[in-house]
Amino acid sequence: MEKRNQYRSLLQYKLHALHTRLSPMHEKYAQVEVDLGKKRSGDYGEASIDYYLSQINGGIPYPIIRGARLQLNQYHFQMDTLLLYPSFFILLETKHLTGTLFFDPDFQQLIQIKKDDEISRQDPILQVKMQYNQFKRWLSHHQVDGYSGFCFVVITNQNAIVKALSNPAIVQEYVVRNPALTFKLEHLIANTQPSHTSSHSAHEIFSLICEHHVPRNENILKEFDINPMELITGVTCPKCNELAMERLPRRWRCVHCNHVSMEAHIQTLMDYSLLISSSITTKEVCRFLHIPSMHIARQIMKSLFLEKTGSTVNAKYCLKSLWKQQNAPQIESGVRVLP
Ligand SMILES: [Zn+2]
Repeated sequence: MEKRNQYRSLLQYKLHALHTRLSPMHEKYAQVEVDLGKKRSGDYGEASIDYYLSQINGGIPYPIIRGARLQLNQYHFQMDTLLLYPSFFILLETKHLTGTLFFDPDFQQLIQIKKDDEISRQDPILQVKMQYNQFKRWLSHHQVDGYSGFCFVVITNQNAIVKALSNPAIVQEYVVRNPALTFKLEHLIANTQPSHTSSHSAHEIFSLICEHHVPRNENILKEFDINPMELITGVTCPKCNELAMERLPRRWRCVHCNHVSMEAHIQTLMDYSLLISSSITTKEVCRFLHIPSMHIARQIMKSLFLEKTGSTVNAKYCLKSLWKQQNAPQIESGVRVLP
């Protein structure tokens, strides 16, 4: 249960780093803040179904596939959660929305009412059905035949009120709330006759998906049209999250809360890798971490045991291994599989 609350997608890490390093006066600040809020609640919703999936009688035979992004023709499609069974699959689209949700399948829309605001959204039922069709076509493109499945929309916010504006039978068939997910899927699994018509085993399909996953590597600065020089530099305080800590011999001190840290530079170097580049020169270390001497910068970088490329003068440190050291999600963002 604990683990689900901690899950953060790579995009959430990037938005968080950008939000920390942008002045509240910056013209893009408000937009970054809104996007970060949305991503946080989306990630929370996605991870919150793990518990209900773990309660399914008999467990799940294969690892749960999260966020698989596959190419079909020249376009990509992404699936929130995919469960593979020997003779069928279950595709889940999670929505973590607040307020009253009016599903309107007849007009392909979802109307969300919150705090007197009426917002028209893309119909999640249509969305998950489209993903289902795309996945079926993708399977057939890879010569996988006879492997069918089911798809559902999971409403993960327990406080949301779900109503059907049209076609209640469709809403009832496709929309499920978090706590009912276990029972709905158990019922489905118990009542689906195992057929052996699939040309491939679930294990082969699992490997095929992992092999063809195309990670989305958003260049977040480019996406928001922000120049790297507009970012606030300096080491972030791990306690109060303020910028920038001052360098004392062998440690950092926060000028806001007085917190002292020996390794606050690690998070800042991770921010650099999320926002600017996965490698860094000593000169850039001085600029970004506010270190007055190249010698000290080299000492700090040496203590991290990072891979180095180039000659001593133009050496670049590879920041990818920092992620492994910190047990953060892999920056290359493979398909996330849950055992
Ligand atoms: Zn502080």
